[in-house]
Amino acid sequence: MRVLITGGSGFIGSHLCDLLLAQGHSVLCLDNLVTGTRRNLDHLIEHDRFQFALQDVTEPISVDGPLEAVIHLASLPSPVDYLEMPIKTLKVGALGTLNALGLAKAKGARFLLASTSEVYGDPLVHPQPESYWGNVNPIGLRGVYDESKRFAEALTMAYHRTHGLRTHIARIFNTYGPRMRLDDGRVIPNFVRQALSGQPLTVYDDGSRTRSFCFVSDLVDGLYKLLLSPEADPVNLGNPDEISILELARVVVSLTGSRSPVTLVSPQDGRTEDDPRTRQPDISRARAVLGWTPSVSLEKGLRRTIAYFRDV
Ligand code: UDP
Repeated sequence: MRVLITGGSGFIGSHLCDLLLAQGHSVLCLDNLVTGTRRNLDHLIEHDRFQFALQDVTEPISVDGPLEAVIHLASLPSPVDYLEMPIKTLKVGALGTLNALGLAKAKGARFLLASTSEVYGDPLVHPQPESYWGNVNPIGLRGVYDESKRFAEALTMAYHRTHGLRTHIARIFNTYGPRMRLDDGRVIPNFVRQALSGQPLTVYDDGSRTRSFCFVSDLVDGLYKLLLSPEADPVNLGNPDEISILELARVVVSLTGSRSPVTLVSPQDGRTEDDPRTRQPDISRARAVLGWTPSVSLEKGLRRTIAYFRDV
């Protein structure tokens, strides 16, 4: 296949480029490099089946030649970024998804949307199955990201139903690994950076919120299986191994051998407003329809991530 990936130079996108090329496909990566970086793709620039185009997906996209798949990853998934660029976040989810779907329709290509566990908001059902409609505050600070993805899902299903486009929706839960930005602002890069530099680890509030962290190699394997499947309904992709943020901080301190203290802080800039108290994917559907299950433990994944951050 010739596959177009929006946001292909980001953290997940660059790993997906690697996987698709290793599977023999050709990859055209579009990115405006606002949060993605060329560095993530340096090793691919000479590859004869890889192309890069500097493009903002909120502007109309025109591509020469055939395409068999469009994977729409472009997004601002870190709370730090979407709190700073709320309108851009809504535009990427709305206009960016519209442009990417329009391109897929014009080319007769299958389409995969990278959606998110944030569609469940601060969930009242635990763990979260795909059948749960969520608990999102549309006008809260986080709403810009959550609603942009909920709109993107609605648009994807509308193209599927109206135009018969072959579409897929992955609801991606917290993912981590090499090539995350050090200043990404999400919890694992923050804690690893702080631990490696001897700074206090900043656990927000009382640290009792939970997340379930999936290593990036597992995640891109799930995305690829979904792309090859006939599945149009949303599929959760994540690792159900749930941990509190306070416990995560202790694990990072222990695996880095750091002397950093773990501190409790209460950010005043709104970043913990509507911050989900718990999150864990129910991955029964992914197991049943894709035969997918994550295999990298938190300890193993964190060791690889720490090794990467030691080098950058
Ligand atoms: N968090 C934290 N300290 C940090 C960064 C994040 O305690 O330095 C918390 C945050 O409040 C949230 C969890 O870690 O409860 C995961 O945050 P992240 O930004 O990684 O992703 P989210 O799941 O909120 O999108």
